[in-house]
Amino acid sequence: MNPIEHIRLYQDELTGWRRDFHAHPETGFEEVRTGALVAERLESWGIEVHRGIGRTGLVGVLRAGNGDRAVGLRADMDALDMPEANDFAHRSTIPGKMHGCGHDGHTTMLLGAARYLAETRNFNGTVHFIFQPAEEGQGGARSMVEEGLFHRFPCNAVYGLHNRPGMPVGQYGIRAGAMMAGCAFFDLVVQGRGGHGARPESTIDPVVCGAAIVSAYQSIIGRNVAPNDTGVVSVTGFSAGTAYNVIPDQVSLRGTVRAFRTETMALIERRMQALAASIAEGFGAEARLDFREVTVPVVNGAEQTATIADAAAAMVGEAAVDRNRIPAMGSEDFSYMMAEVPGAYILVGNGEGEAGGCEVHNPHYDFNDAAIPYGAGVLAAVVERELAPMKS
Ligand SMILES: [Zn+2]
Ligand SMILES: [Zn+2]
Repeated sequence: MNPIEHIRLYQDELTGWRRDFHAHPETGFEEVRTGALVAERLESWGIEVHRGIGRTGLVGVLRAGNGDRAVGLRADMDALDMPEANDFAHRSTIPGKMHGCGHDGHTTMLLGAARYLAETRNFNGTVHFIFQPAEEGQGGARSMVEEGLFHRFPCNAVYGLHNRPGMPVGQYGIRAGAMMAGCAFFDLVVQGRGGHGARPESTIDPVVCGAAIVSAYQSIIGRNVAPNDTGVVSVTGFSAGTAYNVIPDQVSLRGTVRAFRTETMALIERRMQALAASIAEGFGAEARLDFREVTVPVVNGAEQTATIADAAAAMVGEAAVDRNRIPAMGSEDFSYMMAEVPGAYILVGNGEGEAGGCEVHNPHYDFNDAAIPYGAGVLAAVVERELAPMKS
């Protein structure tokens, strides 16, 4: 029986856990209840649990045979600060918090894989089950890595996944190389000199200067980044002013930048600095740009991509595995683990239309429980390939 079919035998129980996680969402670094339930289940299957790595993160260790190779499987556990608009029975019970990205499903998928691997032990080596906190922009993966994740639990390869609304259940998507963009956030303050709205000649108007900077920023991707590379510069906030007839002292802008290569991200930052400084100087104003890396790009290793795509195709057929998935401009902090250990990150279909097509981070988003065996199954199957007895 292939892992998907085997894990389907636990479908009812897994669905119950997933819905319980959904009803009790916990946001970044507060995944205490979730982590305790995860640890309790892992221990009930004889898996050794190490708590408190990256604050609320935890790692389960399962060994079979005498092989010295190890594989890491990672799931994220955090919810989002957003109200849920669904009215099904397992909707969020915590006002203002929602599992709007399906990490309740990812946690459940990894539990399903752990249970299967603990029961079947059809591998030779060590599996590290990495349950990560705070994926949603708070640096959970980075904290686990900084707290010695791969020194304490060395891995030859690491694998992760994300559900994908709009992709049918039972299908997978992946590509070798850049799969998801790196992300940065920025704040920009343009300092001018305020005054009367009817006497602009006595002011340095930061609004006009800020608007010129916003326009100039739109030239960076078009004129500085190579056309066969790409990126995004989005100014998503522009605030200034308190009255109709007052030219304000300063303008605050903010936004996000995405790129698939760290070199491109650095180029964009340099251009943003240069444009802000020189445009502000030209207007007699001053600009201060604070540019912060949030995640590095997700870059799939060629070997690990082939391994997990082959593992998926062996279970669902080649036609259900898109090995040339278009890269996404979204980001994912699993990239910090993949920067330490070669790995791959695969998308798992969450379904089309009403059942599971609603986008992540939407208040109506609904994780599709029918996808659990596919996520759990591919994680289990990749272990059986990576740690196949003859390979060790
Ligand atoms: Zn998300
Ligand atoms: Zn997510």
